[in-house]
Amino acid sequence: MPALKRILLKLSGEALMGDDAFGINRATIVRMVQEIREVTELGIEVAVVIGGGNIFRGVAGGSVGMDRATADYMGMLATVMNSLALADTMRQEGITARVMSAIGIEQVVEPYVRPKALQYLEEGKVVVFAAGTGNPFFTTDTAAALRGAEIGAEIVLKATKVDGVYTADPKKDPTATRYSRITFDEAITRNLQVLDATAFALCRDQKLPIRVFSILKPGSLKRVVMGEDEGTLVHV
Ligand code: UDP
Repeated sequence: MPALKRILLKLSGEALMGDDAFGINRATIVRMVQEIREVTELGIEVAVVIGGGNIFRGVAGGSVGMDRATADYMGMLATVMNSLALADTMRQEGITARVMSAIGIEQVVEPYVRPKALQYLEEGKVVVFAAGTGNPFFTTDTAAALRGAEIGAEIVLKATKVDGVYTADPKKDPTATRYSRITFDEAITRNLQVLDATAFALCRDQKLPIRVFSILKPGSLKRVVMGEDEGTLVHV
């Protein structure tokens, strides 16, 4: 029996990039969707927030020198593109998905309406939240915390390239060890980066646990929802 009923999965834009330098890697997005299908088949309700860093970020790369708010709107549009790609791949893989955008773009995807999102989830559809929070100066981590709290998800699952939260950066420090679980307060005291500060504060206030785990390990999403010791659990 799965340990969870409703989850908010945060995928970074990079999660779709695979080994490419940019954009969406076909084999990678298909694998990602197959991981999602495995958990929907367990009867778990899945909402997804996808980032845009594989296409555009408001704070780096092509946006340098741009007006920040304008660049951030471009970043949000990048998340809409990823959401469309993700939902279409889900369609091809036999999953019913709905994309809901935090910014008005009705000819392309429907707007975010909370009761409708809840209805879709209850119907077993996967809901992909596009355009982050809809506001510049925020990130899709914050959108994940916000939507997770709004839909009553039991947990925010942050899929990254690192398999959890470490005592130090494992790429720089070979002695770094992974926390299996850690409290919000300990993570603050030890100055550990779990989500960005706004997202972290929101989860902490709402007592919404976060699990950071690796998307690179096949089957990890399923193991996470089955309650196995995968990645790092950040809890109250
Ligand atoms: N963004 C924003 N507001 C939001 C979410 C995202 O302005 O609520 C913009 C911001 O420019 C960000 C970009 O969209 O750099 C892509 O999102 P993010 O960096 O979170 O993507 P990820 O790193 O997860 O791929």
